[in-house]
Amino acid sequence: MIHSQGIPVSPGVVIGEAFVLDREDVSISERFVAAEQIPAEIERFQRALREAGEDLEQLQERAREEIGAGSAAIFQAHSWILHDQEFQKEVYDRITLNHFTAEYAIDRAMLKYIRRLQESGLRFFQERASDLEDIERRLINCLHGECSEALDELKHPVIVIAHDLTPSQTIRFDRSKIMAFATDRGGRTSHTAILARDLGIPAVVGLGNVTREVGPGDRVIVDGTSGVVIVSPDAHTLSVYESQRASFAAFSAGLAEEVDLPSITTDGVRIEVSGNIEFPQEIADILDKGGDGIGLYRTEFLYLEAGHMPDESEHLQAYKKALELLDGRTITIRTLDLGADKMFPGSIHYQERNPFLGCRSIRLCQLHPEIFLPQVRAILRVNTLGPLRLLLPMISTIAEVRWAKQVVAEVKDDLEREGLPFNPELPIGAMIEVPAAALIAEALAAEVDFFSIGTNDLIQYTLAVDRGNEKVAPLYLPMHPAVLQLIAQVLQVGEKCDLPVGICGEMAGEPIYTALLLGMGLREFSMAAAMIPEVKKIIRSVSEAECRELWATVQKMADPSEVVRYLTNKTNEILPGAVPPIVEAAEGVVVGIQGQN
Ligand code: PEP
Ligand code: MG
Repeated sequence: MIHSQGIPVSPGVVIGEAFVLDREDVSISERFVAAEQIPAEIERFQRALREAGEDLEQLQERAREEIGAGSAAIFQAHSWILHDQEFQKEVYDRITLNHFTAEYAIDRAMLKYIRRLQESGLRFFQERASDLEDIERRLINCLHGECSEALDELKHPVIVIAHDLTPSQTIRFDRSKIMAFATDRGGRTSHTAILARDLGIPAVVGLGNVTREVGPGDRVIVDGTSGVVIVSPDAHTLSVYESQRASFAAFSAGLAEEVDLPSITTDGVRIEVSGNIEFPQEIADILDKGGDGIGLYRTEFLYLEAGHMPDESEHLQAYKKALELLDGRTITIRTLDLGADKMFPGSIHYQERNPFLGCRSIRLCQLHPEIFLPQVRAILRVNTLGPLRLLLPMISTIAEVRWAKQVVAEVKDDLEREGLPFNPELPIGAMIEVPAAALIAEALAAEVDFFSIGTNDLIQYTLAVDRGNEKVAPLYLPMHPAVLQLIAQVLQVGEKCDLPVGICGEMAGEPIYTALLLGMGLREFSMAAAMIPEVKKIIRSVSEAECRELWATVQKMADPSEVVRYLTNKTNEILPGAVPPIVEAAEGVVVGIQGQN
């Protein structure tokens, strides 16, 4: 039995069979085979070529049916490279002449082509290098019988074990077959973690070595609430987790009975609790869980899912569907926040040394208005169908807001000229997720109709801690006084300028912060569907006056660990069982608190 502690990112206890998707650099080390093994090694390479070719054919077919000919062409091109005689000869030569393993031979052969492309000096060719990396990975996976496409053919539900998962991999998960996942890498608010929570898939990330500890078919326990992963549990451990699973189910069932009750504090303050989505299909779940509307629609997943730049009609279709499902409730559509960890290889993909500080979000839109314009046109056009707000991500200057507003104004003129119906009354808001925006909130307030605080990035940029890096996860502290002060300051500006302010970062859906945020003056929460019932229950169980007192106490605390201890106890007093008990490390540092370790 192996017991590992990681970062809990999506609650729930799951016991099941492991499906090992990949491991880090499993086989690309410099390895050789004996002379008599060469024919077998060649046979392995040929089998991998065949399997990878079949995978690509299927992918091409699927892409053609579901997305269109443009995307299918990517896989066609991969297939041509795979069958290229010169490339295959390079690999055969390395196996027969140098006695390399098939993996190492493929790696060396690919490297030669990748270097050629990178050194060409032409951006088009440099960008194609990532296609070669993709083909190499596919071949290596096939050599190990672990093609990720095999996930599509699963016969029964499994727990996915992977070194790392990208948001684009995660959105392809079939929820009826993927019970949970556990990864070596990742952080609490990486976009993969957020997707897991929004899709309701229990998950633990940042485990370090889980892919080396778990074998295909092993029985695994994933506790997405405490962050524990156990491989090959003994009978006693199994029964402990079986009962934990039962109590989690009972706790959730109890909350489910009250989802339709309004979120009103015991002293009568009405709070809005909305949901975050990546796809319109998630709306049904948000409404079932008692959400008031959609506080954040992360539209970049429209791009990531399609694998190409959606045109105006694809935007229109998605937003129309969302508004129909919402039946008169408000939706906040965030314009695309591509870049950093949410990017796919293509014509606007840049290799950057600091992608989170680079061409992300609004900056990418300014560089490529051709991807922003169709989205703005679609938003204005569907605005006739229901209440809608447009939200601009990663704002750090007034100029960015003014630029976006100018684009909206020009699009209105264009639509008018074209005689297309649209609703010009479109509230425009700014995400406050860069410390600079929080600090100039008052000036920004004069430019926009509302604010939405993105705590995931605000924490990352305030504390200089990569939100997706497990190595610095202990420093990712939502309760750090610097973060709390920035949030409080933005809420105060909202009050002073009579501007609605919400929070759509993960902090809004963490029960440990509900009372604190209420005390700071927050009235609009937006979160993953799974968290809505619990947060609503806490809101219904406290008074605003009590929460203000709680915030006054926290404001005097300089040590984040002290804040965590205090909030854990207070939250469990309000709703017993809402927050797992804290674990103290030897030196007295609080670790393992729900997700904030
Ligand atoms: C945030 O940063 O808090 C946010 C909601 O945006 P995202 O998680 O998509 O970066
Ligand atoms: Mg953000």
